Amino acid sequence: MIYDVVIIGAGAAGLMCAAQAGYAGKRVLVLDHANKAGKKILMSGGGRCNFTNLGTTPQHFYSSNPYFCISALKRYRPEHFVELVERHGVEHVEKTPGQLFCATSAKDIVHTLLTECEWAGAEIRLSTQVTRVEQQGSAMRLTTSIGKIDAGVVVIASGGLSIPSMGATGFGYDIARQFGLEVFATRPGLVPFTLSDSWKARATELSGLSVPVAVSAGSRRFVEPMLFTHRGLSGPAMLQISSVWQPGESISIDLLPNENVAESLREARQETPKRQLSTWLGERFPKRFAQALLEWYPDHDLARPLAQYANAALDEWAQRLNAWQLKPAGTEGWRTAEVTMGGVNTDAISSKTFEVKGLPQLRFIGEVLDVTGELGGYNFQWAWASGVACGQAV
Ligand code: FAD
Repeated sequence: MIYDVVIIGAGAAGLMCAAQAGYAGKRVLVLDHANKAGKKILMSGGGRCNFTNLGTTPQHFYSSNPYFCISALKRYRPEHFVELVERHGVEHVEKTPGQLFCATSAKDIVHTLLTECEWAGAEIRLSTQVTRVEQQGSAMRLTTSIGKIDAGVVVIASGGLSIPSMGATGFGYDIARQFGLEVFATRPGLVPFTLSDSWKARATELSGLSVPVAVSAGSRRFVEPMLFTHRGLSGPAMLQISSVWQPGESISIDLLPNENVAESLREARQETPKRQLSTWLGERFPKRFAQALLEWYPDHDLARPLAQYANAALDEWAQRLNAWQLKPAGTEGWRTAEVTMGGVNTDAISSKTFEVKGLPQLRFIGEVLDVTGELGGYNFQWAWASGVACGQAV
């Protein structure tokens, strides 16, 4: 079999690339070992796929080369993808400012991409293993479970390592290394935290409770909800900070990000000296959480009025509430991570065409590259933008 372009990975980036290359008149084949295209799209955004973010900028991405993503993101913007899904009749909603989700189901996005591939004449073969990729002069030869395939260009769109049960593999990294490219160490990103035994028991008791917080680690800070789970901490705040967190580090959680607790408690002591701390906490947190805080720090007499709190005691509470220092035990790992940090070093890749510099027959797009978005639809926007740039260039 001979094709102009063979794309390995029928995920977000691969399908987008296939449609573009097909419209450009190329004979295109997409191969995937999974039995279904776009499995991650289907499970994304709680089944509704947060397919883009209207506020996408290069600053929303982590990469050793922060400039690499600029060109593709500039050429294919969120509005372009919105125009595409609207043309396919996909209804969408803006849940949090800028974050667009399908109104009904993520299936609409997969359907849109598969329809585009069909219109563009791109062929898709699922349940197909690729065992070898070799250079054959100016072309490439693939050894697969359906036989040998020759291709003018091979595009690696095999994604990252998150959720192995959905078909994620390190295939793209192996191919990169085979052709002499550097692969930066990978680690799970956008992943819930696990806690040490004592904190895990406390989190379990509050499981399902969500509170708005500001969380920080290093120089990054996110103001988002935090969710207690039976394993530890999750919710957008924790997922975001997990991408920058290093094992062994503490994170700082501000449970009242809009309030200077030290000042507020002093004011309360002055104005309502008979009030108890439990009442003050109950005005700010869900009852269950206020109660838990008092149980976590049983260093006070519940009946004691604020008037009897010395400055040092108020400051201790201010520290707990405005800068709670917590050392996660770890993360839930690849099993639940939404993304992979690290990946193929972009220095060896053209940011215009996504070809390997010096080897234009081989290209890398999407999450396999060392470009990872924050939470909020940025990762799909990167998949679309890199897929389009590459598909138009082949
Ligand atoms: P993928 O979409 O992962 O596609 C890679 C494809 O390659 C897969 O089909 C896989 O089967 C195939 N493949 C892998 N190895 C091989 C092999 N050896 N041979 C053949 N085929 C292979 N991002 C957002 O922007 N918004 C969200 O709402 C969102 N929610 C998410 C929720 C979850 C639970 C997860 C896990 C991720 C979420 N993401 C979200 C991230 C987003 O899904 C990915 O960043 C995006 O899918 C990456 O696109 P990709 O095409 O590079 O890789």
